[in-house]
Amino acid sequence: MAFIALEDVHYTYTEGNEPPVQAIHGIDLAIEKGDRIAIVGPNGSGKSTLAKLFNALLTPVQGQVLVDGMDTADEEKIWEIRQRVGMVFQNPDNQLVATMVEEEVAFGPENLGLPPKLIRQRVQEALEMVGMEEYRNFPPHHLSGGQKQRVAIASIIAMRPQCIVFDEPTAMLDPLGRQEVLKTIEKLAGEGITIVYITHFMEEVVDTDRVIILKAGQVMLEGSPLDVFQARDIVEDADLELPDIPCLVDKLQKAGLPLSTGILTKEELVKALCALK
Ligand code: ADP
Ligand code: MG
Repeated sequence: MAFIALEDVHYTYTEGNEPPVQAIHGIDLAIEKGDRIAIVGPNGSGKSTLAKLFNALLTPVQGQVLVDGMDTADEEKIWEIRQRVGMVFQNPDNQLVATMVEEEVAFGPENLGLPPKLIRQRVQEALEMVGMEEYRNFPPHHLSGGQKQRVAIASIIAMRPQCIVFDEPTAMLDPLGRQEVLKTIEKLAGEGITIVYITHFMEEVVDTDRVIILKAGQVMLEGSPLDVFQARDIVEDADLELPDIPCLVDKLQKAGLPLSTGILTKEELVKALCALK
């Protein structure tokens, strides 16, 4: 069975006297251990709702979400599920509560009731993994956005999750912070951690194995980055923009250059152009 399995999942927000909002309409999805998937979609398409369904922050109104075989609707399993599937959100300021970086990262392992020696070891490893060990005694509010987001990631890693769901983690960062966070995620993927990466930056999906396009709470398309970039109609219909390189390749092809459609990155394009006679 898949590590995370969604079967005909529906979710509706019902709050106060407001009319109900159907955010997720019948999603089936299987995420295997070690997968690196991207979820893209316009604002309001249900990305954050779906993310929260993956680790029992929300539970379906219909259908089922299983994490490592455990039903997210089973309240007794909630902590085991959240330990396996961690989440990093958009705004780093909302995720950090401690007065010092190392305290922040120690919270998770402390809550797991680990002995102090093991906690120190986990904190050290997690900070090294995100390249923030020099800042262990810094107050988080003195850090840049990218650094704060890396501390937020460290605090999740310290709990040794098998999967991390990133909900638009770069949306509030400057280009440098964005690069820092993307590089960190690259490293985590290399360690075999399952990555679910939510974004509306289409260029960020190039490095993933599988892309899911959401629109109005439904899966419009599931495929490789290349499949997605070739499905222009669906991409445009979901109000998403193709990244620069596939767009440029398309224009060059139309202008008569014999380039292959499989070119997704700047490096690949340079290589292909240099190989032209
Ligand atoms: P995305 O992350 O893709 O922007 P969301 O999952 O946040 O989408 O939202 C999906 C839909 O659910 C939207 O119509 C949004 O307005 C609605 N929604 C999200 N959160 C709530 C909430 N707490 N109460 C009511 N409606 C909500
Ligand atoms: Mg969102």
